[in-house]
Amino acid sequence: MVTYIDGKFVPDEEASVSVRSRALNYGMGCFGGVRGYLADDEREVYLFRLDLHVRRLARSAKVLYLRMPGTDEEVGRILVELLRRNDVHHDVYIRPLLIHNSNELAPVLDEASTSFIAYCMPLARYIDKDAIDVCVSSWRRVRDNGIPSRTKPTGAYLNSALARREAKDNGYDEAIFLTEDGLVSEGSAEHVFIVRDGVLVSPPSTMDNLDGITRRSLITLATEDLGLSFVERPIGRTELYVADEMFLCGTGAQVTPVRSVDRRVLGDGGVGPITARLKEHFLDVCRGRVEHRRSWLTPVWA
Ligand code: PMP
Repeated sequence: MVTYIDGKFVPDEEASVSVRSRALNYGMGCFGGVRGYLADDEREVYLFRLDLHVRRLARSAKVLYLRMPGTDEEVGRILVELLRRNDVHHDVYIRPLLIHNSNELAPVLDEASTSFIAYCMPLARYIDKDAIDVCVSSWRRVRDNGIPSRTKPTGAYLNSALARREAKDNGYDEAIFLTEDGLVSEGSAEHVFIVRDGVLVSPPSTMDNLDGITRRSLITLATEDLGLSFVERPIGRTELYVADEMFLCGTGAQVTPVRSVDRRVLGDGGVGPITARLKEHFLDVCRGRVEHRRSWLTPVWA
């Protein structure tokens, strides 16, 4: 595989950072995650909402004193070129990464020490189940005021990993974080939607969660294409237990139906009708089958 690091495409083995790097020692950086979907012709690959992913990375960089390696358009072109150099004709995940890559001792944030890295890997499914059992984590989501959860900061994934480990150790597939105030925040790497009385509900990003691109896209698809009602508002813990349907979403997770929360089975325990419709439509959009949503896709090989 070929990886991009500081202006060059190099073989993976040559893309490395020092053990002394602040990025490694202090978790100082932020990243993105973009999916590419193989089209029905089995050759073309569509990047889903590349422009929004690059813009979010640029905004995260601004918060964390990191420097983007060019304009949003230039960064987008680097990510497309990465897939071309790797001759990608399959479902793929791209990881753009900005790190504070200097070797001094103190955890200082300094734009000049930014390294920009991008690599890719094949990715079919991130969560390997059709409907999952989740728990409410005993870990709380890091506050945007502490480690800015809005920005996908590398250091905050220790918080995600602790919640995921606890969930797995207790026999669940995924964890749901509450905020320090006890309201629903997000999963370890996914946003939360519930359905109550036919209405889709999801908490806003001010609930210490990432500024999510799949979430935003699903809201548009649900309201504009499927005519569903959507409300953005805080969600309490026990609302999860009494929801008619629930699903998690994200670049990796796509639309992942939830079967149970803390062993309370939702609905009749299957995939709810609204979740099923939205999931199907979303995947059709990603694979380029929905003409009026083609503008959300960047073809790699066109
Ligand atoms: N929350 C967290 C903590 C994540 O890491 C992710 C994955 N990027 C998401 C939510 C989903 O966000 P998006 O739809 O932008 O991928």
